[in-house]
Amino acid sequence: MPGTLYIVATPIGNLEDLTFRAARILAEVDVIACEDTRQTAKLLAHLSLHKPLVAIHEHNERERAAELAARLAAGKSIALVSDAGTPLISDPGYRLIHAATEAGIPVVPIPGPCAAIAALSASGLPTDAFYFGGFLPAKANQRRKQLEALKPLPATLIFYEAPHRILDTLEDICACYPECRITVARELTKVHEEFLRGTAAEVLTELAARPAIKGEFTLLIAKAAEPAADERPLEEAIAALEAQGVERMEAMKLVARLRGLSKREVYSALMKK
Ligand code: SAM
Repeated sequence: MPGTLYIVATPIGNLEDLTFRAARILAEVDVIACEDTRQTAKLLAHLSLHKPLVAIHEHNERERAAELAARLAAGKSIALVSDAGTPLISDPGYRLIHAATEAGIPVVPIPGPCAAIAALSASGLPTDAFYFGGFLPAKANQRRKQLEALKPLPATLIFYEAPHRILDTLEDICACYPECRITVARELTKVHEEFLRGTAAEVLTELAARPAIKGEFTLLIAKAAEPAADERPLEEAIAALEAQGVERMEAMKLVARLRGLSKREVYSALMKK
């Protein structure tokens, strides 16, 4: 019987984000295939585990995929991890999973951290439809072309970016999407985690003023249309909530919050009628 290939997500900064299941699978498998053995050795030391490690990265993936698929076919179980986050998401592993699925070897995902999804969930930008573009091209003209090509897509765009290119990329976003709201998520799950929100020009101004730009960045651009503003008169909006069984005071509070008003402003607007 063939062994199982597990795709194990690992933390993107905070070691507490490793799931119980991921820790168990890493302890149970025969071999761990990883990007950088030194990086994975640190994670295993944290878990007090000693396992054979096999490096698989973009330069040796073809040979390693065949070799690991043969071990799986012979009944060994293997966990694939990357340096951080979910393997295959802007990380190696595609050839290995492809080889395993072609050979009928069971492939089991062990879900967990992923910078793109963590950033999206806290971005404050629309999440109903999104496009993950990995890393944008390093060359400015190609980067702009790609950003332009994505204009018709009604989805929030998500990209990974290196610290030394973030300002250049933000300049291109200013040019392509001057009106759009963006979020830059830096150092997710780490001590210096932060979110910069605004237009690309606002975020660029804030970042460019810093003496140094460090850390890991995920950037998001909101393109989907905003939900239509509620333009009904206040009394009508409150009455609609009351009709659904919401207490009047609660309905007033809700409408105030939804419209960015204080309760006092809503109350005095109603009194004027
Ligand atoms: N597979 C990983 C995942 O699931 O998120 C991503 C690997 S990709 C090679 C690394 C890039 O992801 C970084 O250059 C950065 O753009 C983004 N990234 C990774 N960790 C991050 C973090 N803690 N905060 C913000 N972005 C992060």
